[in-house]
Amino acid sequence: MEHLTSLDVGVVGAGIIGLATALTLADRGHRVTVFDPAPASGASHHAGGMLAPTAEVVYKQDPLFPLMARAAEWYPELISLTNAYSELPTGHRTEGTLVVARDRADRTHLDELRDYQHAHGMVVEALSTRKARSLEPALSPALAGAVRIAGDHQVQPRLFTRALYDACARAGVSFREEKVADVGAVDADQVIICAGLGAREVGGWFEGPNPLKLRPVYGDVLQLGVPEHQFPLLNHVVRGFVEDRPVYLIPRSDRTLTLGATSREDDRPLPQAGGVHQLLRDAIDVVPAIDECDVLESTAGARPGSPDDLPYLGRVSERVVVSTGYFRHGILLTSVAARCGAELVEKRRPSIDLAACAPLRHA
Ligand SMILES: Cc1cc2nc3c(=O)[nH]c(=O)nc-3n(C[C@H](O)[C@H](O)[C@H](O)COP(=O)(O)OP(=O)(O)OC[C@H]3O[C@@H](n4cnc5c(N)ncnc54)[C@H](O)[C@@H]3O)c2cc1C
Repeated sequence: MEHLTSLDVGVVGAGIIGLATALTLADRGHRVTVFDPAPASGASHHAGGMLAPTAEVVYKQDPLFPLMARAAEWYPELISLTNAYSELPTGHRTEGTLVVARDRADRTHLDELRDYQHAHGMVVEALSTRKARSLEPALSPALAGAVRIAGDHQVQPRLFTRALYDACARAGVSFREEKVADVGAVDADQVIICAGLGAREVGGWFEGPNPLKLRPVYGDVLQLGVPEHQFPLLNHVVRGFVEDRPVYLIPRSDRTLTLGATSREDDRPLPQAGGVHQLLRDAIDVVPAIDECDVLESTAGARPGSPDDLPYLGRVSERVVVSTGYFRHGILLTSVAARCGAELVEKRRPSIDLAACAPLRHA
């Protein structure tokens, strides 16, 4: 898209947020440089990649719901933009999501959540466990309840960030493998800080203590290999409640499956044995054949959390825009971050109301 004023824009951070923002800006005709000493090495590397505005609803987080709904609505456009520049796969799949309950108490939880989702206008279809098993025969016969959420999709974050990087390069974005400690050192008309948790260490735009109250919320996650004779073990994303603990299984087209994720604030960056054990036990309870999968990898990632679980997205000075704090939903919210981030950089009114995301609200 051609614009009257073409800007020099510095993007700090090449996680999914920085890459998608850079691509959007380059597509609008701006000259973009992305700074990151280790592109796509943060939360985006570990994420499951569920695009789940409905299944991921958390009670009383109402300001998040419209952002998540818009993000899902705008996602196909972001995928198309990526595909317009890169032939690499994104892992975008639209089979939908099943949410299942392990026992009667979990079933009550599932029913209450469905009432809440319906009250907020979300589309959730109750299923008999028999119907759920006809859709996904690998589900345990011992489940107590199930729903289908057709609108909750997925991407494979590692593939998608690689495709975004490639798309950026083809769209003319320059990359510098450098850490930015001070935005004053970035030679650009506009700077957008998309450094995830690293935004805590990017200075030059505030006085006194950093106004962003970011904290790491760790999640253990496993990559499993599905044996050839069992592939495809699942087609839908399957989320489960097992003794009130959430667990999810995300089937990929390359015969792998992502199993996640714990949630802990103990400042321990390595995957924890207890967390891995719990994930495997709960996953096997929901899909018994997980027992036969290969364990390819176990990692832990740090979600960039804020005190109210809402992102920091807004302009903080004539020259600087902040776009971080995407916490549990950053893969989904990428479409909102990219479009609104580009609008903010251009000093245009964002397409949606971002008042709840003001970067200085916790200062
Ligand atoms: C286990 C787990 C599962 C998740 N599952 C999902 C999910 O299913 N769906 C969903 O929507 N979200 C999910 N998330 C959340 C999602 O991963 C994050 O919200 C999202 O990846 C944040 O992206 P980001 O680009 O802001 O940050 P990051 O991916 O952390 O990227 C930040 C980048 O900035 C760079 N950087 C840092 N400091 C500097 C600096 N000073 N100068 C230059 N560069 C810098 C880093 O090197 C890094 O590459 C999950 C997260 C985890 C950990």
